[in-house]
Amino acid sequence: PSLFFPVLRRGLAVVMVEASSKKAEEWQRYYTAGPHLAGKNYSQALWTKEKWEEFGVQSHIVDYEVYINYPVDHRLALLNKDDKKNDSSSDNWRVSFEATLEEDILDEDPSTSLPDRVPVFHGYSASGNVTAPVVYVNYGTYQDFEDLLKANVSLAGKIAIARYGLIFRGLKVKRAQELGMIGVIIFTDPGEDGEMTEENGYAPYPEGPARQPSSVQRGSTQFLSVAPGDPTTPGYPSKPGVPRGPVDGAIPSIPSIPLSYAEALPILKALNGHGPKASDFNKWWTARTGLGHKGVHYNIGPTPDDVVVNLYNEQEYVTTPLWNVIGIINGTIPDEVIVIGNHRDAWIAGGAGDPNSGSAVLNEVIRSFGEALRLGWKPLRTIVFASWDGEEYGLVGSTEWVEEYLPWLSAANVAYLNIDVGVRGKVFSASAAPLLNSIIYSATGAVESPDHPGHSILEKNWDKKIDTMGSGSDFTAFQDFAGIPSLDVGFGAGKDDPVYHYHSNYDSFYWMKKYGDPGFVYHRTMAQIFGLLIAELAHPPVLAFSAESYATALNGYVTQVEDKLNAVLHPLKEEEEVDISTLTEQVISELRGNHYNSSSSSTAITSSTSKAAVKAFRDSFKRLHDAVDKLTEKAARLDAEAEDLRSQAREHIPWYHWHQKIKLGYQIRKVNTKYKYIERNFLFSQGLDGRPWFKHVVFAPGLWTGYSGAVFPGLVESIDARDWSNAERWVDIIEACIKNAARKL
Ligand code: GLU
Ligand code: CA
Ligand code: ZN
Ligand code: ZN
Repeated sequence: PSLFFPVLRRGLAVVMVEASSKKAEEWQRYYTAGPHLAGKNYSQALWTKEKWEEFGVQSHIVDYEVYINYPVDHRLALLNKDDKKNDSSSDNWRVSFEATLEEDILDEDPSTSLPDRVPVFHGYSASGNVTAPVVYVNYGTYQDFEDLLKANVSLAGKIAIARYGLIFRGLKVKRAQELGMIGVIIFTDPGEDGEMTEENGYAPYPEGPARQPSSVQRGSTQFLSVAPGDPTTPGYPSKPGVPRGPVDGAIPSIPSIPLSYAEALPILKALNGHGPKASDFNKWWTARTGLGHKGVHYNIGPTPDDVVVNLYNEQEYVTTPLWNVIGIINGTIPDEVIVIGNHRDAWIAGGAGDPNSGSAVLNEVIRSFGEALRLGWKPLRTIVFASWDGEEYGLVGSTEWVEEYLPWLSAANVAYLNIDVGVRGKVFSASAAPLLNSIIYSATGAVESPDHPGHSILEKNWDKKIDTMGSGSDFTAFQDFAGIPSLDVGFGAGKDDPVYHYHSNYDSFYWMKKYGDPGFVYHRTMAQIFGLLIAELAHPPVLAFSAESYATALNGYVTQVEDKLNAVLHPLKEEEEVDISTLTEQVISELRGNHYNSSSSSTAITSSTSKAAVKAFRDSFKRLHDAVDKLTEKAARLDAEAEDLRSQAREHIPWYHWHQKIKLGYQIRKVNTKYKYIERNFLFSQGLDGRPWFKHVVFAPGLWTGYSGAVFPGLVESIDARDWSNAERWVDIIEACIKNAARKL
């Protein structure tokens, strides 16, 4: 059995667990042995529940009936008109390329030949059979499409071919659809893969760490930034028999299909010589392109009318059960609850990275806490563990659960801790609500780096940057709908790590053992970090929150929006643009997802009325700064009081000084309650403009980024739209939230 040792951390006895790599490998082996597509993984739900109970944590299954799709049939082919015949009948079309739409079976990797492996398809994609010329749309970001419109590239009636990357895939389809395109192909460009590419001399998987050329990224094309969850029940749980709304506006109406780079080549090459070249556009179009050496010229197209693509996609839509597993360790305080979650469903049979590295970590954490319980430990706060189903389609299991238990969660949930892909490399990454920043530093500071004995993860595996919460995993409903401070952690793949085959059959046990995490040591490390994060929140009498971090962050966000306003008023010329290589992924994603078109901005504010409006609007930032200053003052006072109570609680008070203990208990209770509700003040019941499900005024997924977060989304979107009166309205809303938060501290 594993080694347990109670550690005295800052005077509080918590149980830190030496999680086991061997066990993590065992859980990985189980989860990666069979298919676990949403709604088709009941045996894995049952197994998970039974395991957790075996570990000593009472568990049950919570099910919903949700609207999702399963693939039926598909085809992707390149057709050329044969000029030998001149009649207009359909039989003078020649198939010049027929995609297999299959990932190669590899002898070394048994996951790749499982009988019930999942075809390549997109979650929530539309059925359709379309034939048209094709246009290369780069990443398919909002700005990419703006560039195409500006260059007068004809889009309506055409099929888009976009590379994966930068933004959530569903938003690529959304914009293509809005511009009248009739289908979308999304392919993997190995230029996204960092250093370990075939072009740099690395052998492809399984012989080496480079990308397997036939690998395909499946994934959802739900319009995630509009609302996650079951698209037929926005805002309420998908229980059997509930009324269901129409799905238009929440999922695509045009078909799409994912593609490997090997099979994208013939289509990209068919574009050679047609229309402008990516290099005629700006540098965003040539950055990280990886198929130049394979003969792709990255022409934009469209292909001429006699070179077309046939995209056929047939999906079956069903309303079908899915299963969350919920485990509970009861604490002694009934209304301070910590929720911990990871999804169990995967696009593929394997899914060693996504999500099973997280599932293995979660199992190790639960097993460890179970052992602690057996040793007589009991947490102060209730800990709820969740194994979500349906994450891949659109965070469905977690969203429906939050929608169902909203009243209880609002009253009692202190924090939500998410782990999705726990391990796909060695670079620690975190996103979090600022209240939780400090525990991430303390937990990573207390755990040793597997590659640097004697040094911590904080020191060696992390740039110490905590991103804001965007979306793309199960924290979204907690953070953005329920106003519960959340965090998400994982070991990501750095530029020098083996290429991770996201949502592909090659995200397998074999890959993980050979390339991703040989020895499963990063799994154990992550279990230690995650266990510490939970213990840090569940056990100490005074909540380990930092209110000042929130206020400081808000201050930074206000400044960020001011900078943005300045950028809108004085747009950069293209030549002055920043060097892409110095920007983080999140910043690039924000820039490219950006809603505004810099060329129109100068004209938009020339009229004197808008000039006056802009000036008045600028002044209103002072109100935000004042409100934040007030909050900062109060937050610092609360944190100081908390720190004082912490040291009092650490001191030994003899049992006969019961009145002192009771008084301290009351004081702690008061401080904890304040901490618990800070985040709730930032919910706005009407929600964001055009996407009322999103209630948080500070954090939301970017409207056109999806994964990466926007701060003050309502305000920023109004500025993007040059809607100064709406921007003013958002300043009022935000100011009221901040003032409210300050008042309640
Ligand atoms: N993790 C999933 C993905 O990135 C989330 C899907 C969604 O949020 O709709 O594909
Ligand atoms: Ca719902
Ligand atoms: Zn995942
Ligand atoms: Zn995934």
